[in-house]
Amino acid sequence: MAFFSAALASLGGFPEPAPTGDFVWPLDPRPTVVRPFEAPPEPWAAGHRGVDLAGAEGQAVRAAGPGTVSFSGVIAGRGVIAIQHAGGRRTTYEPVEDRDPKGTIESPGDRIGSLSAGGHCGATPCLHWGLLVGTDAYRDPLTLVEDRRVRLLPLG
Ligand SMILES: [Zn+2]
Repeated sequence: MAFFSAALASLGGFPEPAPTGDFVWPLDPRPTVVRPFEAPPEPWAAGHRGVDLAGAEGQAVRAAGPGTVSFSGVIAGRGVIAIQHAGGRRTTYEPVEDRDPKGTIESPGDRIGSLSAGGHCGATPCLHWGLLVGTDAYRDPLTLVEDRRVRLLPLG
């Protein structure tokens, strides 16, 4: 019984594990990942520099972590918003309308705009969520929110 009690307490105590502390999913409830991050085979190749999260048009897009809006505008016809975080990290979100203006200070989970149509998931609205570290290094943003315990791979 002790085992089950401990398991239940653990589940009840941490309904939304956040292993890195300050970061949350940018859509609530936790969205389905429609397309994962694909590192480009060469630095100049396309790959998929972010993840696509299924959502609904007009749904609130939330700041994934604490930071300041570093960009809010339209690029190639798509509304884009970016947040600068500590540690040289920047998260990007698109397509987003009704965006907070540049300079807005955000806390994790703050509404930064609304998911708009016109994403690159075809008829299904989705949020393209990106993570950059330093000036131009794209990383998998899921590393900010996923429970690493389930991502451990056996060594060798
Ligand atoms: Zn995408």
